[in-house]
Amino acid sequence: MPRLARSEWYDLTRDMNWSLSYVKEEEVWPAELSNGFGLPAEAWWVWDEPYKVTYPEYVHNQYGKDAGVYAVNAVIGRSKVYEQLDPGWKSAIIAHYGVIAIPEYLASLAESRMGRFGRAAAWRNMATFGTLDEMRHGQIQTYFPYGLLAKEPRADWAHKALHTNEWGALAARSLFDDMFTANDAVSTAVQLTFTFETGFTNLQFLGMAADAMKVGDVDFGALISSIQTDEARHSQQGEPTIKLLVEHGRKDVAQQLVDHMFWRSWRLFALLTGLSMDYYTPLEHRGHSFKEFMREWICKQFLDQFRDFGLEKPWYWDEHFLPELDWYHHALQLGIWYWRPTVWWNPDAGVAPEEREWLEEKYPGWHDTFGGHWDVIDRFLGGQIQPPTMEGALAWMGLSPDEMGRDATDYAWAQAAPHDRSAARG
Ligand code: MN
Ligand code: MN
Repeated sequence: MPRLARSEWYDLTRDMNWSLSYVKEEEVWPAELSNGFGLPAEAWWVWDEPYKVTYPEYVHNQYGKDAGVYAVNAVIGRSKVYEQLDPGWKSAIIAHYGVIAIPEYLASLAESRMGRFGRAAAWRNMATFGTLDEMRHGQIQTYFPYGLLAKEPRADWAHKALHTNEWGALAARSLFDDMFTANDAVSTAVQLTFTFETGFTNLQFLGMAADAMKVGDVDFGALISSIQTDEARHSQQGEPTIKLLVEHGRKDVAQQLVDHMFWRSWRLFALLTGLSMDYYTPLEHRGHSFKEFMREWICKQFLDQFRDFGLEKPWYWDEHFLPELDWYHHALQLGIWYWRPTVWWNPDAGVAPEEREWLEEKYPGWHDTFGGHWDVIDRFLGGQIQPPTMEGALAWMGLSPDEMGRDATDYAWAQAAPHDRSAARG
């Protein structure tokens, strides 16, 4: 068989659209699974992905990536590298696996929906690669923590977290179900691939990859760098989708989808990336602060992309989003450290004297807002309340037994005869 040059067959195989004659458009692309937002079916046919790959190239590349990253894992798994990692860093990766591993698999459902219900053949072709990518990410991020089980039993939360009602898992499940598994193909391209992947997973993966190498976690660094190369490719399904919506007068749809999912993604990533970067990563290995990273990756680069498409920054950007860069993840850190039995990792307080100095330098005013005040719990734990008992705390507050609050009617309300509800029902 003659070998054809790639250019002679590529466009024919990746992009062969056809008109329907036996079925109606809405039967093939029902709105629940693929909302065309009123664009004529053939308008989608010019959909053109910026990054192109053939199936043989894809398989060759992915095979090489997996061979490389599993080889690193096999070597590190026999070493003492994990045991020697900083405790805060270990918390960051155990949190990451719990929040990310199963959702990567869920993302393969979103990709396969675009692989079937995307509105152009080229798009469905790209989404098929995306499906394979996300299956790989789900597998690799449950396999690596599986290898850690002997050293850290809670690594099994990579698989377990999303199947529990732990509060962070509830929040993650709500977000990912709305964005990945219960979304139509067109909205998925805008929300998952553009807003979430181009914006936020870049942040988590590039930020964590850089920090992993600095703290000496070669295993985790190699893993997420390998994943990121796939994300960079399949996240490009958002761009041509937004372009077509805008060109056909549906900028309002694209804008609303971005505004909605940007806000929800921000809240989850502040929890995951914010705490990891500013509190859990050992001070000597911190490069940028979370806020600096957000300013570079989100406020500058991602915003430029919105504008290139003719979209505006989300309506809440200046008034709500930018101010939150200064306080939101610090507030989460306070809450999570105090409520640490409710998470599956060990929260690192991260407020030793030199860490406080760093926080004050990166977030001027941090000390007055988050480090200044001694609340009752601080004083109790700090030994100012003696004896450290309920009686001791009440005496410390100046309340004698005669002065302490009691029920105003001495429970008279509880002594009254119960109301006969069955009589009322007749
Ligand atoms: Mn992925
Ligand atoms: Mn992805």
